[in-house]
Amino acid sequence: MNKNEAFRKIPKMDNLLNWPEAKALQAKFGHSLVKEAMTVALGRLRSEIQQGSPSGNTRSFLIDSTVETLQKQMEPSLKRVVNGTGIIIHTNLGRAILPQPVLEHLAEIGSHYNCLEYDLKKGSRGHRDFHAERLMAKFFGVESACVVNNNAAAVMLMINTFAAGREVVVSRGELIEIGGSFRIPEIMKKAGARLVEVGTTNKTHLQDYESAIGPDTGLVLKVHPSNYRISGFTESVGASQLAAACARHQIPFAEDMGSGNLYDLSVLGIQDEPRVSDSVKSGINLISFSGDKLFGGVQAGIIIGEKELVDKIRNNHLLRALRVDKLVYAALEQQLILYLTERMDEIPTWQMLFEPMEDVAKRAAEFRESLAEPAKNACELIESLAKIGGGTTPEQGIPSVALTFSHSGLSPDQLSERFRKIAPPVIGRIHENRFLLDFRTILKDDLEILRDHVNRLFEL
Ligand SMILES: *Cc1c(COP(=O)(O)O)cnc(C)c1O
Repeated sequence: MNKNEAFRKIPKMDNLLNWPEAKALQAKFGHSLVKEAMTVALGRLRSEIQQGSPSGNTRSFLIDSTVETLQKQMEPSLKRVVNGTGIIIHTNLGRAILPQPVLEHLAEIGSHYNCLEYDLKKGSRGHRDFHAERLMAKFFGVESACVVNNNAAAVMLMINTFAAGREVVVSRGELIEIGGSFRIPEIMKKAGARLVEVGTTNKTHLQDYESAIGPDTGLVLKVHPSNYRISGFTESVGASQLAAACARHQIPFAEDMGSGNLYDLSVLGIQDEPRVSDSVKSGINLISFSGDKLFGGVQAGIIIGEKELVDKIRNNHLLRALRVDKLVYAALEQQLILYLTERMDEIPTWQMLFEPMEDVAKRAAEFRESLAEPAKNACELIESLAKIGGGTTPEQGIPSVALTFSHSGLSPDQLSERFRKIAPPVIGRIHENRFLLDFRTILKDDLEILRDHVNRLFEL
């Protein structure tokens, strides 16, 4: 067939749209997207003919090309991935995995009307910002609580409420930057407050705070150093000592706790990770932390503490710009019910943290056994160190087990890329020049998909 004849044989759009295959695509993707994708397909066909390489079967060429375009276009960019990094709270991979009961409650609230801003007792308009308060107060043993978009917003709101146009006293050792450009000095500026640094990088004494507090002081802020540690010759002021000093001066004392740890992590061999309850006991007036780090839930900034102070935050108009959706309240309330009824074992973040090393090892070994011969021979079981992540205990790990993979034709980087390109993508880690998947963060319902992937990647 010569070029001209081939061009003449290209079907017209109207005919094309009436093919049964095209009809089926229109039922699934709608008329206008299908037409658009077919225009692209026709263009491709023309250029193939122009280049003298007309495809064998015009009809299947056009349909395949249309399907490819449509699938690519209608794929969400936020996709499920398999986390083989061993980092439990991985900010880049969506932080905490939600508990099943929370997901069920989200479906219930999301698919029905609800009393988000309706007072069922009075039968009239109510306030959304009281949701989650009662359960928070009960769980944390505080008077009041308030929820905003994330912990960065919570910190900003606390500063703005108590120190706009005034001063905030912070220890130099706590002027941190956390991934994603959360910098205490910048937040301070945006919140309209002046930063007063006290102490030196490694040492801050109570006297340093005492002499910095003056008539312009609006707030004393303590910040969890999260992703870094100063070690060696250091000193910081104990929270209860500082709380007592703030009370004497009648200055509110707030703490940004970052991940908001709830349990004693020393059983995992992790030292010095303070708990929210420690801060509550020490007399800090307001505490903020993230909802999607160790709390193990949805993204939120949780502020707990004294009612008088939380009420002031509620009256700050900035709250309107930082408020959360009904789904966030729904998720947090169900999460708190899990904690209050001691169903921590249903919270994936804690399941992963506390899963015994032997169980992780068993899962990894069984997975390896289940692989086809070539894949099995390409991987090896090794001990590894998982991490909490989310800015918690950066240099301490949790004993874990990983599978390392080696491929005769591919470097670890190339192997890592192959794993990333499959659907759903598998994200691993390169350690000592080997690509590995840590099994502590690989979910049970990831295993089957992962097995198929690995078998295919190492097929002879
Ligand atoms: C993670 C973290 C933040 C930011 O919290 P987001 O919920 O991500 O906004 C702020 N402060 C500290 C100490 C943190 O660890």
